Amino acid sequence: MAKCYKCEVELTSDNESEEHIILNACGGRLKPKNLLCKTCNSGFGDSCDKILADSTNDLSNLLLIKRHRGEPQSIKGKLTSTGEDYYIQYGGDPMMSKPIISEVVDGEKVELSITARNEKEYKQILKGLKRKYPQLNIEEAIKTAEYKKEYLDDTIHFQSTIGGKEVFRSITKSAINYFIYKGGDRKYIVHLFDYLDEKEDLDIVWMHYPENTIYAPVESEVSHVIRVIGNPNEKILFAYIELFNVHNFIIKLNENYDGVPMDETYTFDLIEIKEIIRVIPLNYTRGQLLDLFENKDDKPFLKVQKRFERVVGLAMKRQSSNHNQELISRAINNSLGKYPEGTIITKEMIDELVKDTMKEITPMILHQLKRKNRDDDV
Ligand SMILES: [Zn+2]
Repeated sequence: MAKCYKCEVELTSDNESEEHIILNACGGRLKPKNLLCKTCNSGFGDSCDKILADSTNDLSNLLLIKRHRGEPQSIKGKLTSTGEDYYIQYGGDPMMSKPIISEVVDGEKVELSITARNEKEYKQILKGLKRKYPQLNIEEAIKTAEYKKEYLDDTIHFQSTIGGKEVFRSITKSAINYFIYKGGDRKYIVHLFDYLDEKEDLDIVWMHYPENTIYAPVESEVSHVIRVIGNPNEKILFAYIELFNVHNFIIKLNENYDGVPMDETYTFDLIEIKEIIRVIPLNYTRGQLLDLFENKDDKPFLKVQKRFERVVGLAMKRQSSNHNQELISRAINNSLGKYPEGTIITKEMIDELVKDTMKEITPMILHQLKRKNRDDDV
């Protein structure tokens, strides 16, 4: 019978719990029930997991990652032209960070101009202003408001950072989870519990971008990778983890490993949402592994950036094809959706469909042309 690898209580249907080997917040789906008991699962590394989830939220958001619970948060960024704060919402729609309200007082007269992000917010603002300006006619203001949904004729830029103790701890937990899941003996990782519980610091995780790239994903692939190697000849147990093929880590789990040889790889395709079989070439000797921590790579940033840009590019393609599909299904719904199922499609209905499709798609095409012209000018 399986035991909780942390406290060794026997796992039963009452106390078992699902533990995501890679954070579900990052799109991880593998969640065996035979790793941790409920008690140990709650709280074990939670705060570190949250920081890793936050640090990778931009990629989860842009790639439209689906989680078991909840959605990735909006990304906070700035408009390239004005520096104004903006959000990229899950699904790709941009949103102002706050409403814009201007009040121009000219003697007895006050001119108000409000740009709100939605109707609800607009009404709230009006209510607030009514207290200040009792003469304000709310009904009139609602009636005369203009509702606009338009493409943003600008780009939003944002910064992404990852690293630090908490992220390293969360990564270590993924490596341990996978080691145990693949039948590894807990005695080789118990010394890491105090580290995961933030009771001590260990220097066992680092970003890993060697000159010869360890793994090059195929053209449109975005995946998570874990490889765990236990080599009793070299007396080492270590793991290599890639998140989104962007954030890559080496984890030294044990320097005195004398267990059975282990060599396990898990690759999860985030676009296809399924496990894929990949070869992750990695084979360090004891000396090489220890050297990675003696002489740390202190400038991995250019490599991270390159990988980041590749994935963001793929994410943008994905979002734009999703968006086009949305426009077309909206046009179909608007035109043909109102007829009962089984209605014979007439020439008039087709004309209506074409008209609605053009109405949906034209603004997008104009926007793209405008962008293209501007890019050509640069
Ligand atoms: Zn337990």
